[in-house]
Amino acid sequence: MPQDNARVPRIGIVSLGCAKALVDSEQIISLLRAQGYGFAPDHAGADAVIVNTCGFLDSARAESLAAIAEALDENGKVIVTGCLGAEPEALAEHAEKLIAITGPAQAHEVIRAVNAAVPPPHDPKLELLPPAGLKLTPAHYAYLKISEGCSNRCSFCIIPRLRGPLASRPAAEVLAEAEALLRRGVKELLIVSQDTAAYGQDIRYASSRWRDAEVRAHIHDLARALGTLAQEHGAWLRLHYLYPYPHLDALVELMAEGLALPYLDVPLQHAAPAVLKAMKRPANTEKMLQRIEAWRRICPDVAIRSTFIVGFPGETEEDFEQLLAFLRAARLDRVGCFIYEHVQGAAANALAGAVPPQVAEERRARLMQLQEEIAAEKTAELVGHEEVVLVDGIDAEQDVVIARSRRDAPEVDGLVLIPRELAPAAQPGDFLRVRHTAAEVHDLWAEPSASRKGAEAT
Ligand code: SF4
Repeated sequence: MPQDNARVPRIGIVSLGCAKALVDSEQIISLLRAQGYGFAPDHAGADAVIVNTCGFLDSARAESLAAIAEALDENGKVIVTGCLGAEPEALAEHAEKLIAITGPAQAHEVIRAVNAAVPPPHDPKLELLPPAGLKLTPAHYAYLKISEGCSNRCSFCIIPRLRGPLASRPAAEVLAEAEALLRRGVKELLIVSQDTAAYGQDIRYASSRWRDAEVRAHIHDLARALGTLAQEHGAWLRLHYLYPYPHLDALVELMAEGLALPYLDVPLQHAAPAVLKAMKRPANTEKMLQRIEAWRRICPDVAIRSTFIVGFPGETEEDFEQLLAFLRAARLDRVGCFIYEHVQGAAANALAGAVPPQVAEERRARLMQLQEEIAAEKTAELVGHEEVVLVDGIDAEQDVVIARSRRDAPEVDGLVLIPRELAPAAQPGDFLRVRHTAAEVHDLWAEPSASRKGAEAT
């Protein structure tokens, strides 16, 4: 976080929740910096604190409420924003003590509240703000949000209520931000939104002018333009949160062309048709297996990541067995599993057939056990293979270089570990060509085979 001298008003920020919320926080700190504010590393040293909350699950709400209480306790001047801000009743306990409450994607309202509580300095130094704004991620990768909200109606989810229907950014605006990030040396662009594959539907795929051409606000056109741009700068492009629409197949072709990383982050949530139907999700499991096979035919090294919910109301043992059978057949590369959690305001709360918590917990453990076996087999198959990895950091204590392959998104997937003595000059943001020497369940050990300058080494 940037630091300023003591005469500059300083704002503290606590950013909770998903990558989309992180992008909101980055926009807030960029706008604050543009007005000349500085930032405080702790509550005590701040003139006011912004808490960007998550309200998706009850556990996330509890964490957000605890963060608000801590900021009130240690500072007293607190502005709440983010998903929980869209539910003032959830904040009733603290409401009177808060300076302002705003909802998600309301950066300008947050800035107005900060300005009212802590006036900005008279002479803002606009040149302090880099063209792509400030980032909370390490310098070599950045999340880029292409749309806000979602127009689907999955019964367990309140995102559409919290963040509104799909609202896409013009393609040219996204591309300009991507270019500014790449010019700053970002080596991996991670595209995020609530529903990436639906990009542009709300604005009827309207074109906008980028460089000397019109770019349609359609995910195929945007991903192609972003991928071309990333390639020009020797960087990676990773697409997150791809709802399994039929037109996803064309994105896999783009991955096969090398314009986007061969990484398909497609949340499937379940495999039993009855549960998927109750979730209000696409429910043809047989077809899904065929599509996965087709994706692998188009792009043989594609890594498929998905998340699933167990213990959904009405999920029977037979439904759950169907999910396990699907996982055995699909052999996905990366799997996350969540226990169904009550979310205030979600339609699924009204469904009959609540699954007892111990049954849901046991199902989660069984699913993860199966997936660990699959993951261990798949990781072991990679020993002896060569590929390019991106260095994320150095663990001085363990004396290892920590890197990621094309199969691994930051925070959620596996790592590639390289003994430091084998790559003593490696720095975050470097691409290294390595050969895998040993496998753990999700992580790989590797040794450098040659170092390359950019992602073209892939
Ligand atoms: S697609 Fe995702 S964000 Fe949209 S309603 Fe379904 S789970 Fe929620």
